[in-house]
Amino acid sequence: HAKRSGRSNYCVFAAEIEAEMRERAELELDMHAGIHRGEFVPYFQPIVMLASGEMIGFEALARWNHPTRGLIGPDLFIPIAEDAGMIQDLGFAVLRRACIEARRWPQHLTLSVNISPLQLNDPWLPQRILQVLCTTGFAPARLIVEITETRLVEDIEAARVILLSLRNAGIQIALDDFGTGYASLKHLRELQFNRIKIDRSFVQDMRAGDNGQIVRAILSLSEGLGLPVTAEGIETDESAVLLAGLGCEFGQGFLYSHAVEAEAALEMARAAHHLGHDAPAMPPEAR
Ligand code: C2E
Ligand code: MG
Ligand code: MG
Ligand code: MG
Repeated sequence: HAKRSGRSNYCVFAAEIEAEMRERAELELDMHAGIHRGEFVPYFQPIVMLASGEMIGFEALARWNHPTRGLIGPDLFIPIAEDAGMIQDLGFAVLRRACIEARRWPQHLTLSVNISPLQLNDPWLPQRILQVLCTTGFAPARLIVEITETRLVEDIEAARVILLSLRNAGIQIALDDFGTGYASLKHLRELQFNRIKIDRSFVQDMRAGDNGQIVRAILSLSEGLGLPVTAEGIETDESAVLLAGLGCEFGQGFLYSHAVEAEAALEMARAAHHLGHDAPAMPPEAR
């Protein structure tokens, strides 16, 4: 009896895997055309100073405007792009569009862009990024490159050299999703990161389990290293207040805004500017 139902389970499972593989192959084909047709676009989520709520910039988050399937999120297509060797083209399509949009924002706002650890395998990455900044006229000092630690960086020495040239060009580097992946404290030092982002899994229910302790540990570590921290996934006033109290400087999450289309982000940026939520003007006597 048990044997028979076990065997039919295999069959259902095999059919599911086959359907999934077919869908992946289909998306992979569509992706190639989609990159060239401009179907991959950045949405933008504001990043704020927790103490004041003042907006300091936006993170660009890729979305795929698929011709038949509608809007697809990155958790589905980024892994496919990485496996299919298309992450570099996709990443640059998004970076270029993001810089063009960010050029229209008030000058003090930063742009954060996600880079796959696989892109660090390209020794020309810094030159390519600077080329985009040059052609779009977006200042390196306003760009923050976010790198997730969810995939192991294959060649630490090569990555170190690449990240060092980005830093030397004035670009900032953030370690994304800290605490969820493979990055060791040694990497944190060696790889020139100058910002840390706490993964939303630790932020979302800080009262549950060990999450609060993990957040505290990350904040005290980063304070010791002198690195500013951004907390992701802030959904409630309670977590915003808690994080600010623990000394976390920056935050982002649905409490402030979802990622929105370029036009809506521009409106948000300009509205904040006009409301005076931008960097406080220096009093004349202090100049
Ligand atoms: P990430 O860089 O850690 O981005 C934060 C993710 O958390 C985003 O998901 C954002 O929409 C989501 N988020 C923000 N606030 C909240 C909140 O309060 N609650 C909840 N539940 N979620 C929140 P998204 O846009 O689906 O992106 C997922 C991941 O895909 C990103 O995680 C990033 O690792 C990757 N990704 C996105 N765009 C790109 C890209 O252009 N290139 C590369 N290589 N990766 C990208
Ligand atoms: Mg990110
Ligand atoms: Mg993250
Ligand atoms: Mg993430």
